[in-house]
Amino acid sequence: MAANFKAEIGKRWSLHGTTALVTGGTRGIGKAIVEELAGLGAKVHTCARNEADVEKCLQEWKSLNLTVTGTVCDVSSREQRENLIHHITSLFQGKLDILINNSGTSRYKNALDFTAEDYSFIMSTNLESAFHLSQLAHPLLKASRSGSIVFISSVAGLIAIPSFTVYAITKGGMNQLTRNLAIEWAKDNIRANAIAPGPISTPLLELYFESKNDLTIEAIGVPMARIGEPVEVAALAAFLCMPGASYITGQKWKDEGKLRTVEGTILENSWSNKKEVATPLLE
Ligand code: NAP
Repeated sequence: MAANFKAEIGKRWSLHGTTALVTGGTRGIGKAIVEELAGLGAKVHTCARNEADVEKCLQEWKSLNLTVTGTVCDVSSREQRENLIHHITSLFQGKLDILINNSGTSRYKNALDFTAEDYSFIMSTNLESAFHLSQLAHPLLKASRSGSIVFISSVAGLIAIPSFTVYAITKGGMNQLTRNLAIEWAKDNIRANAIAPGPISTPLLELYFESKNDLTIEAIGVPMARIGEPVEVAALAAFLCMPGASYITGQKWKDEGKLRTVEGTILENSWSNKKEVATPLLE
C-alpha cells in the first residue's frame, strides 16, 4: 500500500516516457528547458537557426546521457515550421506530449523607430511561430491524450516597458492565445499555459542592457533582488508538463518585480503593484 502510494506520487512528478519539442533550445531559457525535461525522463527534440550551436549542444547533451535530438529550423518561416512538425511526426511516431514555444527575439527601439521589417521579424519569430506550431502540433498532442503546451511569454506582455513595444505586442498576444487554446483544446486533453518571466540571465537580456544605457540592472527591482537564472524558468515549465499539473490550464505565471522609468518613477501597473496569485482555473 505504502509502496503504491509512493509510486503514484512518483508518477505525478515525472516526465518518463514523454516526448517533447522545445523551440530555441541552444541557449538561454530554451536550453535550460531542454535539459530539465530530458533530465526528468522526456525524449526531447529541439531546434534553432545556427547549425553549429545545435551540433555543439547535441554533443554536450550526449555526454550528459540526455536523450535529445536537434535540427536546424527558423521558426519564423512557415515552410520550415511545417518541415519541423513533419520531422517530429515521424521521430515520435505521431504523438507529442509537450510543446514548448520558446524561440523568441527582440529589437529595442522607440515605437516610432520600428520599421516594417522589424515588425514582421519580431511578430513572425515570437507570435506567428507559436500560433502556427501549436496548430500543426495539435493532432500529435491530441494523440498523446495528455498534451501540454507551454508558451514562454514575458512580463513585457503584461506591463508597459519602454522600448519593448513590438516584443510586448507579441507577448500580450501570446497570453491571450494561451487562454483561447486552453478553452478550445481542453476537450482534446491538451492544456495550454504561459510563463511570463521577468529578467532572466541570457544573451537576449544582455542585448537589451547593451542597447539601453538609460536602464541598468540596478534600476530594476525584483523581490529576490537578483536577475533570474534560466533553470528557474525551466523548473516551472517542467512542472506545467507533468501529470501533477493535469488540472492547470489557461494560466500565466509571472515574476513579480518593479521597473523604474528613466526618471525613476514606478510605472503604473508595474511588476510590484500586481500581487495576483495564479490560481488554477480561477482567473
Ligand atoms: P536567447 O538567449 O536569445 O535564446 C534564444 C533561443 O532561441 C536560441 O536557441 C536561438 O537560437 C533560438 N531562436 C531565436 N530565433 C529563432 C528562430 N527564428 N527560429 C528558431 N530558433 C530561434 O533568448 P532567451 O532569453 O533564452 O529567451 C527565450 C524566450 O524567453 C524568448 O521567447 C524570450 O522572449 C523569453 N523571455 C526572456 C526573458 C529574459 O530576460 N531573458 C524574459 C522574459 C521572456 P538561434 O539564434 O541559433 O536561432
